[in-house]
Amino acid sequence: MHDGHHISALTVNPGVAQPPTVDNAALQRFLSRKRKALSRDEYVEGILQGNRTILSQAITIVESSLPEHIQMAQDIVESCLPYSGKSIRIGITGVPGSGKSTFVEAIGKYLTSKGHKLAVLAIDPSSERSKGSILGDKTRMEDLSADRNAFIRPSPSSGSLGGVARKTRETIFLCEAAGFDVTFIETVGVGQSETAVHSMTDFFLLIQIAGAGDELQGIKRGIMEMADLITVNKADGGNLEKAQLAQAQYQNALYLFPKPASGWKPQATICSAITRLGIDTIWDIVQQYEHLTKNNGYFDKRRRQQAKYWMNETINNSLIDHFYNNPETEKLLPEYEKMVTEDKISSFAAARVLLNNYFNSQHDKSQNEFACSQH
Ligand code: GDP
Repeated sequence: MHDGHHISALTVNPGVAQPPTVDNAALQRFLSRKRKALSRDEYVEGILQGNRTILSQAITIVESSLPEHIQMAQDIVESCLPYSGKSIRIGITGVPGSGKSTFVEAIGKYLTSKGHKLAVLAIDPSSERSKGSILGDKTRMEDLSADRNAFIRPSPSSGSLGGVARKTRETIFLCEAAGFDVTFIETVGVGQSETAVHSMTDFFLLIQIAGAGDELQGIKRGIMEMADLITVNKADGGNLEKAQLAQAQYQNALYLFPKPASGWKPQATICSAITRLGIDTIWDIVQQYEHLTKNNGYFDKRRRQQAKYWMNETINNSLIDHFYNNPETEKLLPEYEKMVTEDKISSFAAARVLLNNYFNSQHDKSQNEFACSQH
């Protein structure tokens, strides 16, 4: 009941006119300033000076799919490339709840206290599909977010895994040009995204927890095989012994895998992101790995292989996009999908028709362009 005194969220109380809380003219000035696009040189200069606001804006352009941003993104990335490459890039994976965010916060604070500057990025293709990110928003890393020497950026959310991964890789270059010397790229241990993270990092860390019954916890063998280090997190309180046992099991499992091309022997450790046990040991291991692979040439070799891989990936993705966005393909694809599912045509024959149509339309287009240029 509304008795005039009782205030409830369910009743509408008469409002009292309030003076505007925002100076409208100032707001407009702020918005128009925000809208003013910077030039390529202004972006690059800002990034090289370590200006976080400009770095964030440049990353937004790299993540954008707007046609007017694509060239600018490429220009910024190309200009930053000569200043990039100097961070150690660490991929982190583990099932949701294994403690990735808590771990990154723990090791992040440890590293900034030692004078490092770190960037934390993520690849989470689920964020587009489900409109909700498995990795969650990184406001959970409260301490680290407030740290001037840490830069946290959630996963780009638009497009295919390949597209999201490419944007993240370009973001690594920008962060490195801005002076970050350690980069973490986090992903969830449930799908294809580990391969993408592996293809852009120097070191791959798998976070596991003990006592979840099956020690493999849904982590595929292929992901374990990619790991340079497995750490059993939550080794605290009554869980410490179980964690040590799991560590021994993982270490044994790692011995059974083929020896990696890096010459490195993958290891298993325990840690607690809460008590911070083992965090320093993990950083020591990362440094040992870096030392070994820089000396035996593997570090550079792998980065060169990754550059080649990403060139091919970019070509593949561009061709796929071009094919599926072709008006002829868009028109014919549903018809042929229906015929294939109804067994009226084989998959191969249908694919050939669609591809031929696409190639012919490209051929006609180039003929027309040639004809126009002759006039
Ligand atoms: P993520 O989904 O992998 O990013 O996992 P979170 O970092 O969000 O952690 C999931 C839960 O595990 C949270 O409730 C954390 O507080 C808890 N957690 C993370 N690390 C530890 C740890 O080292 N020890 C204990 N006891 N709990 C932890």
